[in-house]
Amino acid sequence: MKFTSLTEAHIKALRAMVDADRFSTGQSVLDLHARDQSSHPRSRPEAVIWPLSASEISNILKYANAHGIPITGWGSGSSLEGNPIPVKHGIVLDFSRMNRILKIREEDFQADVEPGVVYQDLNEKLKHKGLFFPPDPGARATIGGMIANNASGTRTVYYGSTKDYVLKLTAVMATGEIVEMGTRSSKTSSGYDLIHLMVGSEGTLGIVVKATVRLVGLPPEFSAAVVTFPSVEAAGKAVFEIKRSGLNPAALELLGPEAVALMNREENLDLNVAPTLFIEFHGITTGQLSEVLEMAEEICRAGGCLEFRPGLGRAERNRIFKARHGLGETITRSHPGCRILSTDVAVPNSQYPELIKTIHSQVDAHKIVGYTLSHAGDGNVHLVIAGKKGDKKEWDKIDRVVNTVVTRALELGGTATGEHGVGIGKRKYMASEHGSSLQWMQRLKSLFDPNGILNPGKIFPD
Ligand SMILES: Cc1cc2nc3c(=O)[nH]c(=O)nc-3n(C[C@H](O)[C@H](O)[C@H](O)COP(=O)(O)OP(=O)(O)OC[C@H]3O[C@@H](n4cnc5c(N)ncnc54)[C@H](O)[C@@H]3O)c2cc1C
Repeated sequence: MKFTSLTEAHIKALRAMVDADRFSTGQSVLDLHARDQSSHPRSRPEAVIWPLSASEISNILKYANAHGIPITGWGSGSSLEGNPIPVKHGIVLDFSRMNRILKIREEDFQADVEPGVVYQDLNEKLKHKGLFFPPDPGARATIGGMIANNASGTRTVYYGSTKDYVLKLTAVMATGEIVEMGTRSSKTSSGYDLIHLMVGSEGTLGIVVKATVRLVGLPPEFSAAVVTFPSVEAAGKAVFEIKRSGLNPAALELLGPEAVALMNREENLDLNVAPTLFIEFHGITTGQLSEVLEMAEEICRAGGCLEFRPGLGRAERNRIFKARHGLGETITRSHPGCRILSTDVAVPNSQYPELIKTIHSQVDAHKIVGYTLSHAGDGNVHLVIAGKKGDKKEWDKIDRVVNTVVTRALELGGTATGEHGVGIGKRKYMASEHGSSLQWMQRLKSLFDPNGILNPGKIFPD
């Protein structure tokens, strides 16, 4: 598809649509919107606009659609697959100034938010009301970006992902039409589910300008445990047994020994260097949670665990999970001069040990620096690789490893991305993952965005 580069006339027309301080073609601003947190190449937009309302966005989209100008949404730029990189240039809409929490309806367990609200800020406000919004990608992500990527995180095994928390959306379509979809009712069987079409569409079908999200009660008590196992198979079996037991962990994370060794070194911990589960439970009282921990320990010991370290109460849970939550940043910090690539795949639970085996054998065979961090309760694995910047030979090797891992995940009945989205990096797997249904996705894209102006160069292979 051929897109239009911005001319002086376009810039003049677009500039007139918003206040002067909310339109920029400044080089440093363009640079800041040229890359996300992935290792995909930079690509600069030609202009950045900070909209404040649906009607401003509608006017901008009408103009862009009429002139063939690409439009890419921007939340916090924390994506890991190049999702918000404006690969075809054009305009970036940065939602950081549309960050109002419009309404909290405690009795309905709902909040209306603008797309630029950062989920941690929403949770800070909600905690005084005993409520929270559970999806937790870790980085300071916006609700708009989380909706677009269908983000999830450590607590998804219990609470679900972003798609489970979106009730209603207002979106501006490519033509500029403002459309409301969904319902504030907590259940519905009414008509096609447009909400779940928009969630995970990475800003390629419409721009989210308002969302009604579902909230849940904040659990009064927390507990956690760190458990080491002699093998990934034994840890994988324990994951299955814990899930089957009805203990309902709120997080069930597995780290590879190399990740544990790094945490020991960088965070001054003394964990066994072995496959390690980080488990979290939410409950009503410490008494109840101490029984839950005892049961979890019984299961893990029966499964041959080497060590079970429990922690009761919020402070203990925070202490245990602190290093886990900071691991992404610890990896980056401890590899200066390296590019960090984080690939994300997911498989059915039964295939999880096989996937981990493939990952470890690939990392060893190719002698690359790789860490496995996984949301094991969901069969979701991240292989985080550090490779020297500019070393083409090494990066060719890394690309081959990633390709083998993703291909294996698909062979095992899984997906090329569990939570980071397709972005740029996973486009080449879409045909093999989706077969003929990819054509139906393409038809939907043409219906929603006939001129292809919304986040072009994403999701679909060229
Ligand atoms: C250290 C670290 C840890 C992470 N851990 C996780 C994790 O555990 N789980 C997980 O799921 N992700 C994780 N991520 C990835 C990232 O945080 C999520 O994908 C997040 O949802 C991106 O939100 P954002 O606001 O940064 O969006 P951006 O990266 O700015 O944009 C994401 C996508 O949304 C589109 N978009 C943004 N706003 C809108 C809008 N209003 N309307 C339509 N489209 C829009 C963009 O065009 C882009 O396609 C992690 C990232 C980092 C850096």
